[in-house]
Amino acid sequence: MKYEVVIGLETHAELDTESKLFCGCSTKFGSEPNTQTCPVCLGLPGVLPVMNKKAFGHSLKAAVALHCEINQFTNFDRKSYYYPDLPKNYQTSQNYFNIGDNGYVDMVVAGKGKRIDIHNVHLEEEAGKLIHPEASDAKYSLVDFNRAGVPLLEIVTQPDMRSIEEVESYMQTLRNILLYIGVSDCKMQEGSLRFEASVSLREHGSTVFGNRVEIKNLNSMKAVSKVLAYEISRQSNMLDDGKEVLLETRLWDEADGVSRRMRTKEDAHDYRYFPEPDLVPFSINQEWIDETKATIPELPVSRRQRFVDELSVSDYDAGILTEDKFLADYFEECVAISQDSSKEFSNWIINDVLRELNDRKINVQDFVVSPKMLAELVKIKPTIGSSIAKEVFAEMINTGKSASAIVKEKDLTQMDDTSELNDIVIKIIEENPKAVEDYGLGKKNALAFLIGQTMKITKGKANPKILTELFTQRLSSISK
Ligand SMILES: [Zn+2]
Repeated sequence: MKYEVVIGLETHAELDTESKLFCGCSTKFGSEPNTQTCPVCLGLPGVLPVMNKKAFGHSLKAAVALHCEINQFTNFDRKSYYYPDLPKNYQTSQNYFNIGDNGYVDMVVAGKGKRIDIHNVHLEEEAGKLIHPEASDAKYSLVDFNRAGVPLLEIVTQPDMRSIEEVESYMQTLRNILLYIGVSDCKMQEGSLRFEASVSLREHGSTVFGNRVEIKNLNSMKAVSKVLAYEISRQSNMLDDGKEVLLETRLWDEADGVSRRMRTKEDAHDYRYFPEPDLVPFSINQEWIDETKATIPELPVSRRQRFVDELSVSDYDAGILTEDKFLADYFEECVAISQDSSKEFSNWIINDVLRELNDRKINVQDFVVSPKMLAELVKIKPTIGSSIAKEVFAEMINTGKSASAIVKEKDLTQMDDTSELNDIVIKIIEENPKAVEDYGLGKKNALAFLIGQTMKITKGKANPKILTELFTQRLSSISK
């Protein structure tokens, strides 16, 4: 490609709090429209906002986790704009003194480390939600103010990303960090995590930025990737034709797969920012910053590396395991209990546990098979064999019973007794002369057939390794 791509991203994350940013209304998702409102979040005259300490603390925690410089003096500003889902006609946000500035996110792209600089992290309030009727001739829209005033964290990067792949890795990494530190549930299907991208192109080697286009309201990572691919091709065609790319805001039309002009870019002065007179400024003392630092857990990128270095997990598997903090905790607990078998556990978790969680649409925290139970199953697996272990696992999920209880109850212990198995082998050989003859003629699947017949009789309990040895010995002596 002739041009270098320059991308910056703004991320909006709804903070995980019980109540809204400036009032006591619930933030619960999915309630009847306009049942979680009060004079404060409806912007009625004469009301005063009160800061939600938990939301403020969550913002501080995110800013610390993103390695920002914390502004020990911070205040809030009014960002004025008129929009039907914004009852106050301004949004209380931060413009002059953000909670955090100049941070960074370290991530891995195609096996290589890359650092994305964070311009700032600031706290603001959500708008409500407009609901447009499906009928195209409807002459009205509805508005739901339940979301108005929900605490929203905005995380703004520098224009540091140079490909869609880097953007995807950044979004995934940031989401994991927010989940790890427990400040947002990041549920994209509920709108808890949304993105705005700005993208421009310039000739390779150029040091000036091209005109950037901002794309608003992207509700999924997939939408971000799609709109960026579309914009990169649209802008590069324009530049090839000698046309100027306009500085503008566009919207992504998912159905048609195109971006459309929303408005030409407004400048900051269009918002007439001024300090929010109804809120006092806030000071964050060093003690609070230090306390917050102490609560930041090991973050996904370093945890992934530790899994590779210390637990001999492949990089790919470590990536999957550390994507969800609680899944990574589950894995580490299993390994700690058995003091071994990290490979075995990563296989079980990635193949079996994750499949069950996806099928049931539940989190690992709600999974009936605890790390202790899985560790026990792995421990007794050599005595029951792999395929029975899978059956026991399914039974554990259905009944909540331990592996050993199920094995005992159903008498599933593997048959390892060579003389007992030998008797069965002799019987099977007598009953299947055709297969024996085929084996003598060099047909390999005859052996598999005979083992299959034995498994039927023993209900899958015969040790397949011993069985194979016994059959091979006896059959080769017959064919001689
Ligand atoms: Zn309210």
